[in-house]
Amino acid sequence: MRNIRHSYDGDSDHSAVEHVDLEVYQGEVVCLLGPSGCGKTTLLRIVAGLERVQQGSVTLNGKVVGQAGMRHLPPEKRNVGLAFQESALFPHLSVLENVVFGLESLPARERKQRAMSLLEQLGMERFAQEYPHTLSGGQQQRVALARALAPSPQLMLLDEPFSSLDARLRDQIRDDTLHVLKDVGAGALLVTHDPEEAMFMADRIALMREGRIVQIGTPQELYCTPNDPFVVRFFGEVNELSGVVWQGRVITPVGEVDARGLEDGTLVRVMVRPEALCVKTLDQAPASDHADERNSHVLMARLLGRTSLVHICAHGDDGDETHMHARVPGVFLPCEGQPISLDLDCSQVFVFPVEESS
Ligand code: ADP
Ligand code: MG
Repeated sequence: MRNIRHSYDGDSDHSAVEHVDLEVYQGEVVCLLGPSGCGKTTLLRIVAGLERVQQGSVTLNGKVVGQAGMRHLPPEKRNVGLAFQESALFPHLSVLENVVFGLESLPARERKQRAMSLLEQLGMERFAQEYPHTLSGGQQQRVALARALAPSPQLMLLDEPFSSLDARLRDQIRDDTLHVLKDVGAGALLVTHDPEEAMFMADRIALMREGRIVQIGTPQELYCTPNDPFVVRFFGEVNELSGVVWQGRVITPVGEVDARGLEDGTLVRVMVRPEALCVKTLDQAPASDHADERNSHVLMARLLGRTSLVHICAHGDDGDETHMHARVPGVFLPCEGQPISLDLDCSQVFVFPVEESS
């Protein structure tokens, strides 16, 4: 996609997407991630050919398939597979017939083989002769995926395909889908509003806000080198502090933070992920830590499963108290009022100059 802009109802002042450049390579899973209404589905529909390109161009394998006012290859000629949240199967066709549908270019025998092999990869071969209404939502979604993959599309387009499924089923289908996509070797563009799903599925993530891509990169790049406060917040809860840069550093109630490259006096937002706070109760801390101990203490602690969430009251040098959340792996449940020392893992702390818009 090159320089894509789109507005509905010819409303040229308000666009659903704009300035979008995006590439998906062979065999790569790219996730379009972002809050509801940010333009993910619109982009997917433009790639599919369900919307005409209004500005910019869409190219598939070096061939322009959509260009504003010039070219529009219809969806069925693009060799793309589509799977949506509610993928309707043909109710009067069996599971096998649903998947075979769209394979008319193959000889009858191969059609059936191809369909059965995909059903097998998605754990649905036992249901080949069943009809869609006898299947659960998750099973129907598996069949819909097999049907979309059957014609060997060069690109799979998936729009929140797992969002109507409950959590445990969803994890299993995601996993199976990831492996099938990688086996088949098609490129895939997957829409989701769920950051964990994007990190699970994606080779690269394009995070969107209000019609634009804010950052694109590997999950690790977005999580560990976010280019905007929005990116940090989108991947989970974060403690936000404010401060002022002095000699390349910012002083916060939980210690000094590197702010190299920012001028003295710059007002900054310091974003501290809960896992960046290393909490030690004072009886565990080595004696040397006690010297610069700030007398922070525990307000509350809760076990969330794999991690514990510790609510802490951090005392700054100036006497200010700041309520922060720390996430500690495993079971770590200090008592209310327990004095603690705090260390920072600076790889999960981000500093941004404060701008009016953020
Ligand atoms: P997402 O998939 O990220 O939730 P969409 O692409 O569906 O976002 O929508 C992007 C914007 O375009 C939203 O503001 C939405 O209200 C608007 N929009 C989407 N589809 C239509 C439509 N058919 N007609 C008018 N506006 C639309
Ligand atoms: Mg959508």
